[in-house]
Amino acid sequence: MSLIKIENRCNQSCVFCSFEPERQRGKIEVTSIFDDIKRSKEKLVQISGGEPFLAKPAVLLEILLCCLKNKKKVEIQTNASLIEGYDAGALKKIARIVKASGGYFNVNISAANPKLDRKITQRDFFYRKISGVNLLLKLEVAVRITHIICELNYRYLPSFARFVKEKMGPRVGWVQFSFVKAMGKARTRKIVPKYSSVSGFLSKACYILERSGVEFEIDHIPPCMLGRYYGYHVDIAKMKLKIPGPQEREKTYVKKCFKCKYANICYGPRKDYLKIHKVF
Ligand code: SF4
Repeated sequence: MSLIKIENRCNQSCVFCSFEPERQRGKIEVTSIFDDIKRSKEKLVQISGGEPFLAKPAVLLEILLCCLKNKKKVEIQTNASLIEGYDAGALKKIARIVKASGGYFNVNISAANPKLDRKITQRDFFYRKISGVNLLLKLEVAVRITHIICELNYRYLPSFARFVKEKMGPRVGWVQFSFVKAMGKARTRKIVPKYSSVSGFLSKACYILERSGVEFEIDHIPPCMLGRYYGYHVDIAKMKLKIPGPQEREKTYVKKCFKCKYANICYGPRKDYLKIHKVF
């Protein structure tokens, strides 16, 4: 996959943001984005930011059309807070392009209520984001919900699963539970919990989604921490199909991995996690 950052600015200030502050300076040139898309050998192009919907509709449309012309599958990574107020005509076109590419919207929702959402994002956009997701679902485009697991929200994972079941249900394409990366603002134990603390809450959340027919997958927390849900880890397919990617350089084996029954389907814990917690 190719990650294309089209916008340096973001309208949230998430406690776990991995976008390095020093990289947020400077303007992104649209012509260089076109070059990156054309040059990319990957099928999947992730349109990211900052928040991509801060870009003008005409600019976003041009970038997406460039993806389509170059036969890319498009993933738009967004917090969905600007979807509702976005130019309606442009939004319909954007949804059509994403659909035609075989792609999807990847929406980061990391809380099931406004209070926790405010604590995590430092903004009051919870209801706007949920409306944004519902609008995308109305446009019949595939939506993945990404839930970043961090110190502030891991105890509420089962509540989040119930929230998805009740408010979005199987209309949502799938949920990805993604353990926080210890990068950017998140290089601290205040944000990165221990795998072992998260494990039980995550299993309960998986159980709720499994029972309600909502698809889900898991990333950045090793299979040995997932109980009977280890098979939902996204690295298994990557390893089996030998798909190259950042997982190969971001994760590493530790001593106990060499005796582990999952070693053939796992790249090991993240290196940035080990820097924070030393062991797991
Ligand atoms: S290989 Fe290591 S990190 Fe992966 S599941 Fe086994 S012990 Fe856990």
